[in-house]
Amino acid sequence: MVNRQRLSEEFLRQAAIDSPSYHEAEMAEYLKDRFQRLGGSIEFDDAGGKIGSDTNNMIIRLPGEKAGDPLLLSVHMDTVTPAKNVTPVLQAGIITSAGETILGADDKSGIVEIIEAIEVLKERKIPHVPLEVVITICEEQGLLGAKHLDFARLKAKQGVALDTTGMDIVINRAPAANRIKADIFGLEAHAGICPEQGISAIEIAGRAIARMPLGRIDEETTANIGKIEGGLASNIVPRRVSLWGEVRSHNLDKLRLQTELIVKALEEEVDRAKIKLNGEIKNASMALELLEDFPLMQVLDDAPILQLIQAAGESLNRPQQIRAAGGGSDANIYNGQGIAMVILATGMSKVHTIHEQVSVEDMAKVSELLIEIIRRA
Ligand SMILES: [Zn+2]
Repeated sequence: MVNRQRLSEEFLRQAAIDSPSYHEAEMAEYLKDRFQRLGGSIEFDDAGGKIGSDTNNMIIRLPGEKAGDPLLLSVHMDTVTPAKNVTPVLQAGIITSAGETILGADDKSGIVEIIEAIEVLKERKIPHVPLEVVITICEEQGLLGAKHLDFARLKAKQGVALDTTGMDIVINRAPAANRIKADIFGLEAHAGICPEQGISAIEIAGRAIARMPLGRIDEETTANIGKIEGGLASNIVPRRVSLWGEVRSHNLDKLRLQTELIVKALEEEVDRAKIKLNGEIKNASMALELLEDFPLMQVLDDAPILQLIQAAGESLNRPQQIRAAGGGSDANIYNGQGIAMVILATGMSKVHTIHEQVSVEDMAKVSELLIEIIRRA
């Protein structure tokens, strides 16, 4: 059913259009035209202006012959870098870049698989429910496109994102994450002449970090202080230090608790650091920013979307492996908005490197699975 030649040509065309995050406009123009030719009606939201991209999230609607809620298909059009003058090379059925850049199979393999599936549905006149296809911008920049997506435009209650490595893998769970930024302020003083007149922000940070549970907390939870910056010179008691950290968990109570432990360690050590200067008490202080980075993704095993995908996989004799992920993706944002979305593997591998690759055969197989999923929806 799937036309491997058409699919392969489609991928080579898309891969040759550079679309790094924030600069997806040319890709968006191409996709608009491509999906229009497939009978889709195209809308753009206004996310780009808010996040500094030269285009917007794209929403494509395809009418269906079957009644029912639309099925949502989600991919992203941006890529990581280096992505200047990407030259895709097809050799023995495997597509790579020429070696200087990424390939962009993340996530163009997913886009191409959706296009080929729609081509087949049309060609074979296979009846299906209406489809909503969302192609986001700036996914690789902390899910910025999805975070600013105009969800009021979507009717679908469940969907499939095509955006993970491997084959015949379905991700149904991913952690929620909080981000923490703390600026600690002490008091500057000459480190050799009068250190007792200073409060070292670095020392406060050091004490606080030593108290924080970090790394793998349990099978569901991780915590990290990933960046620290501060101080001016070895002979100055440092006035300021900034810390950046995160907590992730598959369990929202644990996420909250772990975040609180980090904040408590910081607050208590900042409180304790005080000196008496000319009869006056001098305190350290802190500016804290807490950000919910992305919400939890948790699609239960008996959710209709998972049962649908498993049934489709079994009918093709390709049982799907259901797995949890450690990172966040656009699917977290959809789930946070009440849309049951799981992630399907697209066949891509070695993503975010110049060795990124995908095979035509694997993309064809994912398209076949997608056709089966859409047909059964
Ligand atoms: Zn991706």
